[in-house]
Amino acid sequence: MNTTTRTTQEWQRADAAHFLHPFTDFQSLARKGSRIITRAEGIYLHDSEGHKILDAMSGLWCVNVGYGRQELIDAATRQLQELPFYNAFFQTATPPAIELAELLAEVTPPQFKHVFFSGSGSEGNDTVVRMVRRYWDLLGQPQRDVIISRKNAYHGSTMAGASLGGMGGMHAQGGLPIPGIVHMEQPYWHELGRSMSRDAFGLLAAGWLEAKILEVGADKVAAFIGEPVQGAGGVIVPPETYWPEIQRICDKYGVLLVSDEVICGFGRTGQWFGCERFGTRPDLMTFAKGVTSGYIPLGGVMVGDRVANVLIERGGEFNHGYTYSGHPVACAVALANIRLIQREGLVERVRDDTGPYLAECFEQLKDHPLVGEVQTCGLMGAVLLVKDKASGAPFPEALELGMVCRGHCFGNGLVMRAVGDRMIIAPPLVMTRAQLDDMMVLIRRALDLTLADAQRNGWL
Ligand SMILES: *Cc1c(COP(=O)(O)O)cnc(C)c1O
Repeated sequence: MNTTTRTTQEWQRADAAHFLHPFTDFQSLARKGSRIITRAEGIYLHDSEGHKILDAMSGLWCVNVGYGRQELIDAATRQLQELPFYNAFFQTATPPAIELAELLAEVTPPQFKHVFFSGSGSEGNDTVVRMVRRYWDLLGQPQRDVIISRKNAYHGSTMAGASLGGMGGMHAQGGLPIPGIVHMEQPYWHELGRSMSRDAFGLLAAGWLEAKILEVGADKVAAFIGEPVQGAGGVIVPPETYWPEIQRICDKYGVLLVSDEVICGFGRTGQWFGCERFGTRPDLMTFAKGVTSGYIPLGGVMVGDRVANVLIERGGEFNHGYTYSGHPVACAVALANIRLIQREGLVERVRDDTGPYLAECFEQLKDHPLVGEVQTCGLMGAVLLVKDKASGAPFPEALELGMVCRGHCFGNGLVMRAVGDRMIIAPPLVMTRAQLDDMMVLIRRALDLTLADAQRNGWL
């Protein structure tokens, strides 16, 4: 299928006629027409119109080693030739799945020696729900089945994933959440804690977990799940005091702690996993995205000793699994990807060099008239657009200023995402300082053009 055989318009027409896109207003997309991405290398995308675009979102938070890495391509090709598929259901296994399980045990925190594979992050979180409930069943406490999550969390889009997530728009479609999942407030200082110090707010926000546990009944709460840094919710970096206090509360009530590391895992925060950056010892850890740098779908759950020992020793069949659990090609790509991250020292580079540099660059954006707050963590960041810098007052939602800004980003060859008026990035971990400089030029240009719009239209 040669991309030069069709014009952009022809692609767009066929797209609108047949392809229902995820999280998309179908009619509005059909009117505008999709942007057709045809190829990529390094940190740059190319579209069917010949534009070159700096991908500051790593695809969708996943292409951590950048595009076109030959090691990953070779690993997939070799495995496709050797053994393109075999399952792990009937007491069988394949070498790539075994080797990946072994390597994951090595790069994750010491309590993790076991993995359950899935095909995506959403499926991984479905596995979490099944596994957490199975664990308490096996311990003779089947009534302990409630999982506490947070508003504005994103844990995927399957029935369990969307239920664990705290997105009102998703819950409104399809009768979610499923029973046994409850939500508490998020640790978003700018919205909920501006009258106090960040550290004091962090303790307050963690305290909402204890309040929720007592409200539900401590003997009914099975687990708490959270992203170390909320990604799709707008790169919301919690105060440093938040996670240690969450850990203390989970320990106090014996509640399992689940860290959804689908974005934060594999170096994004400058540590291998976000729980290491924020000082928690999770019992379960969901991963996907960066495990293969998005080259092929793979997800899973790291299972800590506390849960694994019960599942293994108390015996009985765990009636759960996916056709593609431990898919050999996906596992081969993940192996090549993780070894590449190790060989190039990408985690250390983000921790010691590019992460701190990004933080400096974002600090400098604070002089911009539209910028009310900046946050970074490793190689992800957020810039909040506000109407009034002093009070932090937002623009009216109806203006969709974030979308205006996102339009200027695209127009100038930059992919940056808008979550409300939070402009967010999660660029590939291979970004150099010089490439970060190039990105900052594009970000500032988009902010200036957005400001010009706001002034011209009297929005300020
Ligand atoms: C993307 C994401 C998921 C869902 O992963 P899919 O592979 O899209 O199913 C789950 N949790 C978090 C934190 C994510 O960012």
